[in-house]
Amino acid sequence: MNFDLTDEQDQLRDAVRALGRRYGHGYFVAKARAGEHTTELWDEAGRLGYLGVNIPTEYGGGGGGIIELAIVCEELAAAGCPLLLLVVSPAIAATVIARHGTGEQRRQFLPGFADGSLKVVFAITEPEAGSNFHRLGTVARRDGDDWLLSGRKCYISGVDEAQFVLVVARTEDATTGKLKPALFVVPTNAAGLTRSKLDMEIVSPENQFLLYLDDVRLPADALVGDLDSGLPALFSGLNPERITVAAMGAGTGRYAIERASEYTATRKVWGGRTIGSHQGVAHPLAHAAVQVELARLMIYKAATLYDAGRDLEAGVSANMAKYAAGEAAALAVDTAVQVHGGAGMTTEYGVATLLGAVRAGRIAPVSREMILNFVAQHVLGQDKSY
Ligand SMILES: Cc1cc2nc3c(=O)[nH]c(=O)nc-3n(C[C@H](O)[C@H](O)[C@H](O)COP(=O)(O)OP(=O)(O)OC[C@H]3O[C@@H](n4cnc5c(N)ncnc54)[C@H](O)[C@@H]3O)c2cc1C
Repeated sequence: MNFDLTDEQDQLRDAVRALGRRYGHGYFVAKARAGEHTTELWDEAGRLGYLGVNIPTEYGGGGGGIIELAIVCEELAAAGCPLLLLVVSPAIAATVIARHGTGEQRRQFLPGFADGSLKVVFAITEPEAGSNFHRLGTVARRDGDDWLLSGRKCYISGVDEAQFVLVVARTEDATTGKLKPALFVVPTNAAGLTRSKLDMEIVSPENQFLLYLDDVRLPADALVGDLDSGLPALFSGLNPERITVAAMGAGTGRYAIERASEYTATRKVWGGRTIGSHQGVAHPLAHAAVQVELARLMIYKAATLYDAGRDLEAGVSANMAKYAAGEAAALAVDTAVQVHGGAGMTTEYGVATLLGAVRAGRIAPVSREMILNFVAQHVLGQDKSY
C-alpha cells in the first residue's frame, strides 16, 4: 500500500497551488459579486495544461487520470477558488466523449478539452424527475437523419460560459418500445434552446440555469457514440463527477480550516492567550481537519481504483468520498465561521462566502440521501424503498 503521490503528481499539486494562490478567494468573490466569470484563471490554467491533465496525450492532453484532475480541483479550491466547471467539463463531459464518443467526436472535442478552450456543461436534472433519472422526460425523436430534442432541464451549471451542453435525453427503442437514455452534444446557441438564470444563494462566479429545449434540431452526429452507448456513457461520467466534486469539497474544507487556524492562532481576547489555546475553539477545528483528511483518503482511493479501471469498486469509493467530503466541507466552513466570531460573517475574512457553496455540496450533484441509498443497497444488501 502506498499513500504517496508520484513526483509528477506532487509537482502538479505545487504548481496548481501556486496558481490558485496568485488569484485567491478575493478574486473569486469579486468576480461573483461583479457577475463575471473567472476567465483569467481558467485561461491561465488551460495554457499551463492543468485543465487537460486527464485527456489522452494523442489529443494534446496530459495523459493522466482522474487522480491528476482531482489534484487540480482540490488545489484550486484550497486556494479559495472552487470551480464547478472543472467537474462538469473535463471530468464528466470529456470522460463521456473520450470513452464513448465516435472517433470523429474525439477528434473534434478532445483537443479543446485538453487546452481548456472548450467548455461543455452537463444537463441531466429535470424539474419533474429530480433525483429519479428513470423519469427523465426530455425526448429525442428521429426526423430523417436529424434528431429533434424537446424537454426541460434545471440547475444546469455554466451554460452561459460553455459552447456545448451534453444533454441526457431518452429515445424510443424501436424494438421494444421502451425508452432508453441517449446523450447529445448540443451547441448552447442552437435554435430552440433557451435558458433562464436561476437566482441562487451561493457566492460564485458560476451560474445555474433552467434550460428549455423546444424541438432543437441536431444532426445525426450529435448523438454521443451510438444508440446503445447511452447508459454506459452516462455511467462513465458518474465516478469522475463524484471524485472531482469531492476533491473540490476537500479543498474548500482545507481552505476554511487554514483561514480559521491563522485567525485563532493570533486573535487574543483574554489577556495574552490566543483564542486557539482554548480547547472549545481548537477542538472543533481539529475535528473538522480530521474529517477533511478522512475524506481525502477516500477521494484518492476512489481515484486510484478508477484510474486502474476497477469501475465497480471505484463506484463505491467515489460515492463514499463524495458523501464524506460534502459533510466535511460543510462542517469545516461552518466551524471556520464560528471560530472567527463576528469576523466570520464579514466578506473580508473570506469564509462565510463559502457557506452557500458547501451547503449545496450536500445536495448536488448527487444528494447525501441518494448516496446513503446507494451504500445501503450495494454495500449492505438492503432492498430499495423506491
Ligand atoms: C449548485 C447546483 C449546481 C447544479 N448543477 C447541475 C448541473 O450542472 N447539471 C445537472 O444536471 N444538475 C445540476 N444540479 C442539480 C442537482 O444534481 C440536483 O439538485 C440533485 O440531484 C437533487 O435533485 P433535486 O434537486 O431534484 O431534488 P429531489 O429529487 O426533489 O429531492 C429532494 C430531497 O429529497 C431527497 N430524496 C429524494 N428521493 C429520495 C429517496 N429515494 N430517498 C431518500 N431521500 C430522497 C433528496 O436527497 C433531497 O434531499 C445542480 C444543483 C445545484 C444545487
